[in-house]
Amino acid sequence: MATTRSAGERWLNLGVGNPAFIPEVGAMWHDLAQQTLDFDFATESAGYGPSRGNARLIDVIVDYFAKTYGWNLTPHNVVVGPGSQMLCFIAAALFAGPGDDSMRRLVLPCVPDYAGYLGMSMDSGGAEGFAPRVQPVGRHRFHYLLDRDALRDSADIGLLLVSSPSNPTGRSLDEDEMGCLVATADANDAVLVVDNAYGQPFPRVARTSAPPLWHPAVINCFSVSKAGLPGERLGFAVGAPEQISAMVAVIANSALHAPHFPQLILARALETGRLDELATAVVQPYYAARRRNAEDLLHEYLPDDLNWRLHTGDGGMFCWLWIDEPWFDDAKMYARLKERRVVAVPGRHFFPDPDGVGRHATQCLRLSITADEATVREGIRVVADTLVSLAGRRA
Ligand code: PLP
Repeated sequence: MATTRSAGERWLNLGVGNPAFIPEVGAMWHDLAQQTLDFDFATESAGYGPSRGNARLIDVIVDYFAKTYGWNLTPHNVVVGPGSQMLCFIAAALFAGPGDDSMRRLVLPCVPDYAGYLGMSMDSGGAEGFAPRVQPVGRHRFHYLLDRDALRDSADIGLLLVSSPSNPTGRSLDEDEMGCLVATADANDAVLVVDNAYGQPFPRVARTSAPPLWHPAVINCFSVSKAGLPGERLGFAVGAPEQISAMVAVIANSALHAPHFPQLILARALETGRLDELATAVVQPYYAARRRNAEDLLHEYLPDDLNWRLHTGDGGMFCWLWIDEPWFDDAKMYARLKERRVVAVPGRHFFPDPDGVGRHATQCLRLSITADEATVREGIRVVADTLVSLAGRRA
């Protein structure tokens, strides 16, 4: 059972953000790394390179998006960075913050969203979140929808930042929702950053409702982390040349460039088609099966008459639970679970301003489902048991 150790105790960790280790995926990266070491190490790792990214990788990315989505890119549309977290941070630093005559707001258009966005602002005001419309689905499911009215009425936005599919919920924006965000960006003369860390074209950890969108106001970020290479710190962004060249300048002034070795590995993975093959044939079915298993466990262990709901979705690394009960508080639940040596992440950490959202922001819990099956089963059993005892205590 995959556990975390602390002071000699065994912990069941459903709080992690690491992707699962899938042996076929690990073997692919290992093989490509081996080939890269054999052929490119001396020439590439022994010297500095361009801040935009390794020229070979940039060309491969341009060809890859032409073949995959018919996008007509040039190298000026692409920047490679040390992880997509860093690329999102750079975009926030460039496109949000104090403007010539007003503050350019950093907005997460549909919270909850990735907790890693909350600290991205260089300004003390920080990121703001637009609360979603909450739509119950059946007895134990629900779905978040964009608050289109709030978006239409918004002003002074510099950057809209959204993960799709989302961490923590798995929600994937469809074409219509994407259109609404693009219209909001256009109306504010803002940039929309779409973080595709879980979606298409790779890693396909979670189902996507629509392919990435090409539009001059949109910067699409892509990452190899959830495709099995988080430790190598590699991602890239695709967007309009003016915005991308500003991002290249920040990299030139800070990191110089992303590490070469993983860039060359990624070039091989994309040009051979091996990453696409594995994403479709292995990663997608793997996470879909893990998700089905986790859902079965929730139904097995959680009482039907408890008002619990799971955000809709397919695949993904997480289950996002909403406990729609007046006695439930995510922080208390976290503390109670810790007493039983189980870790889950309180929902409030995915809302920039939980108080502004109201009760819902403290009624959610994120459970990671990437640990081994025994850990996930026992962890969910303890979550269910803790909820039952909390419910009994307040009854
Ligand atoms: N974006 C999202 C939505 C994530 O969940 C994560 C990591 O958990 C990242 C970005 C970080 O990606 P990277 O490892 O490429 O910096």
